[in-house]
Amino acid sequence: MTEPHAGADPTMFTTRAVRDGDDWVINGWKFFSSNAATASFLIVMVVTNPDVSAYQGMSMFLVPTDTPGVKIERNVGLYGERADQGSHALIHYDNVRVPAEALLGGEGQAFAIAQTRLGGGRIHHAMRTIGLSRKALDMMCERALSRQTQGSRLSDKQFVQGYIADSYAQLLQFRLMVLYTAWEIDKYNDYKKVRKDIAAVKVVMPTVLHDIAWRAMQVHGALGVTNEVPFLGMVTGAAVMGLADGPTEVHKTTVAKQVLRDYRPTDGIWPSEWIPAKREAAQAKYADFIEHEVGNL
Ligand SMILES: Cc1cc2nc3c(=O)[nH]c(=O)nc-3n(C[C@H](O)[C@H](O)[C@H](O)COP(=O)(O)OP(=O)(O)OC[C@H]3O[C@@H](n4cnc5c(N)ncnc54)[C@H](O)[C@@H]3O)c2cc1C
Repeated sequence: MTEPHAGADPTMFTTRAVRDGDDWVINGWKFFSSNAATASFLIVMVVTNPDVSAYQGMSMFLVPTDTPGVKIERNVGLYGERADQGSHALIHYDNVRVPAEALLGGEGQAFAIAQTRLGGGRIHHAMRTIGLSRKALDMMCERALSRQTQGSRLSDKQFVQGYIADSYAQLLQFRLMVLYTAWEIDKYNDYKKVRKDIAAVKVVMPTVLHDIAWRAMQVHGALGVTNEVPFLGMVTGAAVMGLADGPTEVHKTTVAKQVLRDYRPTDGIWPSEWIPAKREAAQAKYADFIEHEVGNL
């Protein structure tokens, strides 16, 4: 691949579409296009105006996979996939010509479209995570009740009880968080208003699945790491969730920026909750009352 790849940084996109009469001509590379090998069309996000910010200068196109110039250079396999069945394509767009109708939405709207689509997608990933985590917890509990070792069932051992309690609490927290965020999406019908909580869900998601699957795997002993139970696949899936649709670190940054919008710096060096200043203010506010009470002692 000759071009740098942008990953989660839209300002690094270099793949271009240039207007040519009634057509657009696309040139560049895309890495990690999920399921491109079996898709009949691709959604391609490209720069259409390099003179404005990436947030206004990118557009999306629907490109049929059999358009001349679309070349899948390699299908990259995720861990566990067979080498010849990789599901994530490295694609070269080499003078790919599409008609004006191939533009999705308006020119320059790619970022807005992506955010809307990805917001819903992330909540969908979160719901799948709840299902997978629940399955791991169910399997952990069944195993704990079934396996006898060193004089008692696993479910009688405090370490294992701790695994179960932590997993139950983590899943309950996550389930309510996802439910709340989905409710917000319905209520506002505006992803910008729910951006902070969608990002927070995306941040938490890999850890919830990783932790619960890992504990379930441990409780199953050697069987837990075999291909006869699903735990290692879940752990790998958790790692994937920390990257696909943007790395956890980027989503944490989004959460922090959105949270900080509701706060203001103090005027001086002391925190607004600094107790000496609050005491002084309270004394000034209640001075008459204190004087009256003290005077009447
Ligand atoms: C299973 C899967 C499916 C995918 N499907 C698609 C798809 O269909 N279409 C598509 O376009 N892309 C897809 N992607 C790509 C995905 O969006 C990128 O992998 C992701 O955005 C990260 O980009 P990158 O891999 O280039 O990592 P990099 O950008 O190189 O980041 C590597 C690491 O650097 C750190 N990092 C990066 N940025 C920051 C930051 N701002 N602050 C702090 N730390 C940071 C993080 O630890 C991050 O994991 C898919 C990825 C996966 C794993």
